[in-house]
Amino acid sequence: MNILLTGGAGYIGSHAAVVLTEAGHEVVLLDNFSNSNKSVLKRIRKILGRSLPCIEADVRDTDIVERVLREYKIGAVIHFAGLKAVGESVANPISYYANNVQGSINLFQVMQKVGIKTLVFSSSATVYGEPKYLPFDEDHPKNPMNPYGRSKLQVEEILRDLADSDSEWKIACLRYFNPVGAHESGLIGEDPNGIPNNLMPYVAKAASGELPHLNIFGDDYETCDGTGERDYIHVMDLAEGHMAAISYLKNHAGFTCVNLGTGKPLSVMDLLNAFEKVIGKNLKKVVVQRRSGDLPCYYASVEQASIQLNGSAFRSIEIACRDIWKFQKADNFQ
Ligand code: NAD
Ligand code: UDP
Repeated sequence: MNILLTGGAGYIGSHAAVVLTEAGHEVVLLDNFSNSNKSVLKRIRKILGRSLPCIEADVRDTDIVERVLREYKIGAVIHFAGLKAVGESVANPISYYANNVQGSINLFQVMQKVGIKTLVFSSSATVYGEPKYLPFDEDHPKNPMNPYGRSKLQVEEILRDLADSDSEWKIACLRYFNPVGAHESGLIGEDPNGIPNNLMPYVAKAASGELPHLNIFGDDYETCDGTGERDYIHVMDLAEGHMAAISYLKNHAGFTCVNLGTGKPLSVMDLLNAFEKVIGKNLKKVVVQRRSGDLPCYYASVEQASIQLNGSAFRSIEIACRDIWKFQKADNFQ
């Protein structure tokens, strides 16, 4: 099938592009490069042995999106494009709603006009907010704690209404937990601008000497060892989840939301221990105050993913550490 990946040059989109192409799909990328580097296209080409068409455009540019949908005879869209930094969304909510909600509405309008009604949407575990119980299953109450999370929930609600209004739509919202790792080649991965917010890229930069040490945000939580617990999923498992979602939608109309996680929480110390094992040395770390707004622990129920997407085999945290370390050490941006 011909599949359009909005935000396809980004961290998750680039891995999905590789997985889908290797499975025989024809992939087209559309990205405005607001949070990605054009050199990713060359690196994808190195992995695949051929280049993928990429249109530099904003998803809100409806004329270009319409042209791309028609010209490439797109059969399904995976909508990754969006902004994703929680802190930034609190400081600048309008740009988050404009990109994430307005951008999505524009895309869905064009898809409807052209008659393309198969969609996978990048949602997030942040839609759940504070846990009433764990693991989070898909029916857990939704109460996102920041504009970023609310932008994701608003798009989910729009999509539910859209599917209710027209039975031809086939929509899967995938709620990602904590994506980590990189492609095993070390050619593509996550390279945030400036100081990373997330744990794994921060650890990788501390290990390479780019950052002096790692701050552990609190060791007095009621968790296995006092540090925060999360559900870290290898980005390649996540990418494969998108391929499974596309297959699922072939035979299932309507609207579904599915968690993409491993179902197993790991603490900051678990992740650090795995990383230190991979690189064969201890990292400098300092325990500092809890980060404001952090939850002690959350992780996914994976029951629905295993029923709908056959998701079960997960790469280990050690493999994720190995792959991100390979990416961190490679000279990918020359
Ligand atoms: P990313 O920033 O690496 O990729 C997003 C891509 O979209 C970037 O290449 C960016 O340039 C592009 N983009 C942003 N706004 C655009 C616009 N208006 N038009 C065209 N392109 C645009 O992020 P990612 O980690 O790959 O995340 C992909 C999606 O998954 C996002 O929607 C994000 O909110 C969601 N998500 C990510 C995580 C995570 O931890 N990485 C977790 C849950 C959900
Ligand atoms: N964390 C940390 N130091 C860092 C970054 C994160 O101790 O430099 C902790 C954070 O408090 C949380 C876990 O690592 O318990 C995962 O944080 P991340 O920001 O990666 O994911 P999120 O909190 O958004 O799920």
